[in-house]
Order: sequence, then C-alpha cells, then structure tokens
Amino acid sequence: MEHYPELAAASAGWRYQPEPGCLAGKVILVTGAGDGIGRTAAMTYASFGASVVLLGRTRSKLESVFDWIDAHTDTEAVIVPCDLAALGDENAAALGNAIGESFGRLDGLLHNASLLGPKVNIAHYPTDEWQRVFQVNVHATFLLTRAMLPLLEEAGTASVVLTSSSVGRKGRAYWGAYSASKFAVEGLMQILADEYEHAGRIRFNSLNPGGTRTTMRRSAYPAENPLDVPAPEAHMDLYVYLMSEASRMQNGQALDARDWTPQPSISG
Ligand code: NDP
Repeated sequence: MEHYPELAAASAGWRYQPEPGCLAGKVILVTGAGDGIGRTAAMTYASFGASVVLLGRTRSKLESVFDWIDAHTDTEAVIVPCDLAALGDENAAALGNAIGESFGRLDGLLHNASLLGPKVNIAHYPTDEWQRVFQVNVHATFLLTRAMLPLLEEAGTASVVLTSSSVGRKGRAYWGAYSASKFAVEGLMQILADEYEHAGRIRFNSLNPGGTRTTMRRSAYPAENPLDVPAPEAHMDLYVYLMSEASRMQNGQALDARDWTPQPSISG
C-alpha cells in the first residue's frame, strides 16, 4: 500500500481499516480486472497479500495490472484473457481446472465485469444488445460461479461478491438490459446465499459501488464532471472487508458502498 499513493490517500476517509496482510494466503479471482473498479480492486487485494487471478478481455490492460502487482507487491498474479461474451460451459470448466491446478482452491471471487449496453427505452431496445448484456452480466456470472464452486468449497471460508447497481434494486427508464441484468444478479446472489447458508463455507453478497469515476460511468453520464464522483480507491475498504475474514458472518446482504458501515466483527 505504501507504493500505491491513491489508495493511501483514499484510506484516510475509510470506515474500516483493514490490517496489513489481512488477505495474505488468499487466492482471489477478479473479473474485469484490467480497468476501472476491477483494476483497483485487483491491485488492492494484492497489496493486502492476496494472489490474484486477473480475468478480462483486453490482454494489454491485464498485463499492465500484472506488471504493477509484480513490481509493488510480494504476491503472485495470473492473467486470464477471456471474453465473457463468449464464455460457455467448456471454457468455464477449463478455467476452473486451471485455477485448481495452480492454486488448489479459491478464497474469493469478485464478479465485477459488466456491460452497460445502450441507454434507450424498451420499445427500441435491440434484441442482440439485450442478449449480449445478459450474456456478460448474468449468464457468465452463473457459469463462472458454478465452475468455481468446488474450488470455493476447498477454501473453507470463501467469499463471492456480485457487483450490482442502484438500477438493479430499483428500475429506471432507459437503463434497459443493464438494469434488468443487475436485478438478475441480485436474485442469483440471494439464491446462492440461501443454498449455502447452512453449510457456512461460502458467503455470497452483492455490492453496489455507486457512482464511481470509470469508463463506464463516463459512458453513462457524458456531461458529468468526473471529479464530482469518487475514484474507485474510495470504496476499497468495503471491497477488502468483503474478501477478508472480518466479513465471514455476512451472507445474502445487498450492500451499498455509499451508506455502508461495517458490522461489528464476531470473534472466535
Ligand atoms: P468499466 O467499464 O470501467 O470496467 C469494466 C471492466 O470489465 C473492464 O476492464 C472491461 O474490459 C471488463 N469487461 C467488460 N466486458 C467484458 C467481457 N465481455 N469480458 C471480460 N471483461 C469484460 O466498469 P466499472 O469499473 O465502472 O464497473 C465495474 C462494475 O461496477 C460493473 O459491474 C458495473 O456495473 C458496476 N457499477 C459501476 C458504477 C460506476 O459508476 N462506475 C456504478 C454502479 C455499478 P475492457 O477493459 O477490455 O473494456
């Protein structure tokens, strides 16, 4: 973290102060790790000691994150170039096998990658765009989660975070497939949380980062001054919390980075 000035600056306003090394020994898969919130989350997880599997569709962006982790942390990173628009049963299973062979387990899975799609009304929403958004935001999330469940069970206490949005909790005109897909993500999270509640080995929560200064935000709000919205670093206390042992009793929750305060930790 000392090598990561943006994170150090943001941490002054954090609500939860993760202990240095609180993710040491953990293996965390981050989707959409090449840019935006996923990039910052991957670098942050590595800064707190996790080995990070970087999944994304643009190899050069993943390599830049890999190089940063290699230069600034003692942890291991692995690059997985993968277009989630083309993810199917076979490549999801192959990815599970590859992570299993390299690490033997998975302690954390951050479903972060998503597509915004066009902002038009439903009457004019193109079918192919609708399907593409659902493939990346919902179908790939299902396929990847299902493929990783055996590795997550191996970890003993594992955390799966599904990235949502305010329009995934209340529908809004012109947000089309993106909004509907985030509702589906919330539903998937609730089903998984309920299915695994009693086993207690894997927890599932959804997280709405809220307006954050990224490429997606610029596409959604082109007239907005980017400096009016927080940078991804501002949310990283919550992103680390959800992957750390501090959140191990938290399951089935729909969290919002804007109004989140940590639950009192339950020790033992
Ligand atoms: P960005 O668009 O800035 O980054 C998304 C990342 O996902 C990019 O690295 C992108 O790859 C990757 N990605 C997109 N499609 C695919 C694909 N088909 N296969 C593999 N990787 C893909 O998004 P944000 O960082 O803003 O958003 C991150 C998450 O937070 C999303 O789930 C979003 O819905 C959610 N969110 C964001 C908000 C915001 O204000 N930013 C507000 C609420 C929710 P590439 O770099 O190659 O394009």
